[in-house]
Amino acid sequence: MTGKHQLRKSGRTSRREFLKRAGAAVAVLPLPSLAQGAPGRAVVIGGGFGGATCASFIKRFDPRINVTLVEASPTFTACPMSNAVIAGLRDLKVQEFGYDKIAADQVMVNLAPATAVDAQARLVTLSNGARLSYDRLILSPGIDIRWDGLPGYDEAAAERMPHAWKAGAQTLLLRRQLEAMADGGTVVISAPANPFRCPPGPYERASLIAYYLKTNKPKSKLIVLDAKDAFSKQRLFQNAWKELYPNLEWISLSSGGKVTSVDPGAMTLITDFNRYKADVANVIPPQKAGRIAELAGVSDRSGWCPIDPVTFESKLQPNIHVVGDATIAGGMPKSAFAANAQAKVCAAAVARLIAGGTPDQQKLINTCYSLVAPDYGISVAGVYTASDGQLKDVEGAGGVSPLDAPSSTRALEAQYANGWFKTITEEVFG
Ligand SMILES: Cc1cc2nc3c(=O)[nH]c(=O)nc-3n(C[C@H](O)[C@H](O)[C@H](O)COP(=O)(O)OP(=O)(O)OC[C@H]3O[C@@H](n4cnc5c(N)ncnc54)[C@H](O)[C@@H]3O)c2cc1C
Repeated sequence: MTGKHQLRKSGRTSRREFLKRAGAAVAVLPLPSLAQGAPGRAVVIGGGFGGATCASFIKRFDPRINVTLVEASPTFTACPMSNAVIAGLRDLKVQEFGYDKIAADQVMVNLAPATAVDAQARLVTLSNGARLSYDRLILSPGIDIRWDGLPGYDEAAAERMPHAWKAGAQTLLLRRQLEAMADGGTVVISAPANPFRCPPGPYERASLIAYYLKTNKPKSKLIVLDAKDAFSKQRLFQNAWKELYPNLEWISLSSGGKVTSVDPGAMTLITDFNRYKADVANVIPPQKAGRIAELAGVSDRSGWCPIDPVTFESKLQPNIHVVGDATIAGGMPKSAFAANAQAKVCAAAVARLIAGGTPDQQKLINTCYSLVAPDYGISVAGVYTASDGQLKDVEGAGGVSPLDAPSSTRALEAQYANGWFKTITEEVFG
């Protein structure tokens, strides 16, 4: 293997420490039986919440497996909590992570985009010319924007009407636009139809932008144009908006909220019934699995990747597994928590399969926290298991924050949100 950005460092994680970490997001994780023969090769594409977790955990499940993590960027910028950056409550720097810890876990890290996958030859090609062969390939490429999904919205339009749905430069652009806007201005957010990355994300963003406007530009107005009639934690959000943010207006699909095109030159969002002129426009467009999924032949016509719910192996290509946002994961939302949980289950399955064994069925957990204000958090939790070839909700498990909780509970949940981010990023990136 070649590549000037390769990292490899020594380091060990004790079995006890490993089991402690594995327990964070997955209900039950047995150790796979260890192979007696050749160690085998696993390649993971995408060093975000799913891929970085998966690479580390394959290595921990069976240290003899040769694991390579392929990531396009030397710095990972996390989306969770990035809405707080937009609202001026947090620095983007604290969202940024590197790959030293993963390299210390004996994973080869190759920092170059993967440009092709030959599923027949089991070969991955990178932009730096490296060619990596694999026994098992895992893809966790996150999302790409469907640039053909909303008339008028292309890469140039995103410079005027940022999506900020991949954290980094877009996050800072939206932040700067809000700072530059005069008091009395209008901010418009457009939220897409399902499925998309982070179902509660647009509403957390609306809340935190409303908080920024209330505390800094109180004459301003915020309109959320939605392509849906229902959304995650809806009653909790709407109750909080009524109490805290009277200048926030949510317009549902049925009320004509679906944005059908945008005119970035005129800073206008167009629906079937109206035209909305914005001083700041945050367009969250339709999405699909990261492009490498399409190149590998694991995404279907929906743009997302059908997977086996026990092993996360693609239903379209053998020996390729997909985790995280790119998957069609039934009831499981596209969240960092879910990507991390899926990655651990997938890692156990891959280690077992490489060892010639049969993976066990697991239960997976997800919890999504949202901040409505810096000291006001709400959450939704779910438990999922494989059933009829899909990941389905375990009935009676999970739930949402109580509607009538006191402010002390909301403050505690805000602390849990911060605590969750710290825990998951420490586990994955060190
Ligand atoms: C505003 C916002 C707020 C959010 N808040 C939360 C939250 O509070 N809680 C929560 O659980 N989730 C949250 N999410 C969702 C969360 O960010 C995603 O679900 C999570 O990042 C998915 O993990 P992933 O591994 O699928 O993709 P990512 O974490 O995006 O990782 C994908 C990685 O793959 C790399 N990659 C892609 N293609 C290639 C290639 N060809 N070659 C090499 N590398 C490649 C990318 O560079 C990237 O590093 C939020 C999202 C947004 C937008």
